[in-house]
Amino acid sequence: QDQPRVVLSARGLGKDFAGFTAVNDVDLDVEHGRIHALIGPNGAGKTTVFNLLTKFLTPTRGSITLLGQDITARKPAEVARLGLVRSFQISAVFPHLTVLENLRVALQRPNGLATQFWRSLSSLDRLNPRADELIAQLGLTEYRDTRAMDLSYGRKRVLEIATTLALDPKVLLLDEPMAGMGLEDVRTVAGIIRDVARDRAVLMVEHNLSVVADICDRVTVLQRGEILASGDYATVSTDPRVRTAYMGT
Ligand code: ADP
Repeated sequence: QDQPRVVLSARGLGKDFAGFTAVNDVDLDVEHGRIHALIGPNGAGKTTVFNLLTKFLTPTRGSITLLGQDITARKPAEVARLGLVRSFQISAVFPHLTVLENLRVALQRPNGLATQFWRSLSSLDRLNPRADELIAQLGLTEYRDTRAMDLSYGRKRVLEIATTLALDPKVLLLDEPMAGMGLEDVRTVAGIIRDVARDRAVLMVEHNLSVVADICDRVTVLQRGEILASGDYATVSTDPRVRTAYMGT
């Protein structure tokens, strides 16, 4: 009844840059309600895979399916509208707006990509209930009226995730969501990611292997653009090829 459901899949995905193969023959299945980690050394192709999945880059080979639809030839905005959303850099959060105002702006964006035109913030009051829900879910209640620029680094990243959730993605792509955070913020954000993954799929690039071990249900290891191993953390982390190539033991 609670059968895992593949919501995003890639088959034979590949990308060449002027004759250099950055990604090759990548198969990926991302499931609803699960957190899937994409790991691998620098230059392994993780960012390129994210750019291919979101269609910021056009694949040289292979296909991508989102919620049963072939999105290989779709545009980034269409892909976002269909429910595949990537968390944006901190610059996507408006520093002079409060947490609440940032969420109201995010909630009225059609797909999180184009800012298009905005109605005035005061006309967005009807979005407050959903904004407050997100604020509560992400533990930002105390900071509702704090300007983004006055938040700690960790809370800025949380706000960034919140603005992404405003789009109600079915698949959430997170690019090193804990990068640069202290231990306490890492724990907080890990808990938040686990919580938001209950009713969507999460695919995240993460370098912190203890985080991967703690919260990720599935791990795919990339090396030189190809999949070295894929499975649960225990299986992947004891794979001799992974230990040799990635973990250095
Ligand atoms: P990762 O995110 O795992 O560090 P990337 O996806 O950024 O890896 O890069 C994979 C490889 O592809 C690297 O060797 C990188 O230099 C190369 N690469 C990435 N983007 C481009 C590009 N636009 N043009 C040429 N080479 C690129």
